[in-house]
Amino acid sequence: MDESAFRDWSLKAAQWGADYRASLRDRPVRSQVAPGDIARQIAASPPDRGEDMETIFADFEKIVMPGMTHWQHPRFFAYFPANAAPVSVVAEYLVSAMAAQCMLWQTSPAATELETKVLDWLRQAIGLSDSFAGVIQDSASSATLSAVLVMRERALAWKGNAAGLAANRQLRVYASNQVHTSIDRAVWVSGIGEDNLVRVPISGAMRGMDVDALQKAIVADREAGFLPAGIIACAGGTSTGACDDIAAIAEVGNKYNLYLHVDAAWAGAAMICEEFRYIWNGIELADSIVFNPHKWLGAQFDCSAHFIRSPEDLVRTLAVQPEYLKTHGRDGIINYSEWTVPLGRRFRSLKIWFLLRHHGLDGLKTMIRNHVRWAQKLARRLAAEADFELVTEPILSLFSFRHLGGEMADSHNIALVNAINDDGRIYLTQTRVDGRIAIRFQAGQFDMTEADADTAYDVIVEMARRLSA
Ligand SMILES: *Cc1c(COP(=O)(O)O)cnc(C)c1O
Repeated sequence: MDESAFRDWSLKAAQWGADYRASLRDRPVRSQVAPGDIARQIAASPPDRGEDMETIFADFEKIVMPGMTHWQHPRFFAYFPANAAPVSVVAEYLVSAMAAQCMLWQTSPAATELETKVLDWLRQAIGLSDSFAGVIQDSASSATLSAVLVMRERALAWKGNAAGLAANRQLRVYASNQVHTSIDRAVWVSGIGEDNLVRVPISGAMRGMDVDALQKAIVADREAGFLPAGIIACAGGTSTGACDDIAAIAEVGNKYNLYLHVDAAWAGAAMICEEFRYIWNGIELADSIVFNPHKWLGAQFDCSAHFIRSPEDLVRTLAVQPEYLKTHGRDGIINYSEWTVPLGRRFRSLKIWFLLRHHGLDGLKTMIRNHVRWAQKLARRLAAEADFELVTEPILSLFSFRHLGGEMADSHNIALVNAINDDGRIYLTQTRVDGRIAIRFQAGQFDMTEADADTAYDVIVEMARRLSA
């Protein structure tokens, strides 16, 4: 592609992006295609001769677009949001054009220094003290893996990377049954093993770890010859928003010298609002915290903020310095690739900088407060209907409910979710609460309005009654 074609097609792509965003309300939220519909239209082998851009672009619109689920749709209430505020999209256009590898300070000093600054902005925004330093990870899964690796190395007196695990006592990691599957994968990949992930039972309305049970499990493991390494707490679990009592957990962790990682991937964004910080009381006592600006806050995917009390421990766990990666003659620089598992790094701080400057914390706080208010209003409206029940009360902007559809409640509610998503006006997903199916609702899309929450109510009630009729 020559210079002039690159200019034309870049402009066309930007134009297309703006038109696309403007058209979202008229599209079904979840893609309506069947499995195989898209694959069937793609050639079996790559072309030998280059094709012109007109054809490629036309196929993109014809073949690809029907197979897209619209995560930026204002009535996306499924999973968690993956907001890409327009201003962060603009930043990503620039980053994409420069395509720099920001693994070392010298491979783009601006990327490193801006990362230090904007992570410090985020730290202040969510009310953490300056005893934490931040780094951008590609995902919460990677941040959690890094934290589990630090747990492992710390418990093994920094010998695990060299000696492996076989020669050592079995490590133990503790978490409730509400934590995200990324915790399971971190213990698999770190070599600790799922059998050594101790699932502490939960109690109370916030569905947090039973702290007495945690303490008993640690004591029993020590007596049995295991080596407890760390605890993973959640602030806003994926299924229903479960929150552990971080202050109480930290006290137990401290007593047994355990590393404490907190997964606040979704809820962390809401911590910019002082009144919601009660959900992670005691957070100052954590060693490691992850939250995803790429979820609720509006920084285009991917962008995970990882705060650690001791970056030295992280670097000691992850840094390797072959000669070809050394930066000679520069003191006091940070090479962020020593803080993460992957070496290569995208320039992710630019979109945070654009986002925070353009919206200001006040703008983002108003958005989050509105989402919480609208979700709570919808929860109350559904609870007031005789044929609906709330399964879990709202935690921030997430709650779960069920339609009382007679005997086969689970299959009825699955059928309801499917009917709603086939309808296309809104998008919801389900979960299991105490073994039974419940429907999740979360409000969090950047352009959502109160009217969209009202539409959700109309669609849910209409589809449920149609299904039962
Ligand atoms: C989304 C989510 C994750 C996983 O985040 P990735 O960035 O996709 O790895 C982990 N934990 C919680 C609580 C989440 O909501």
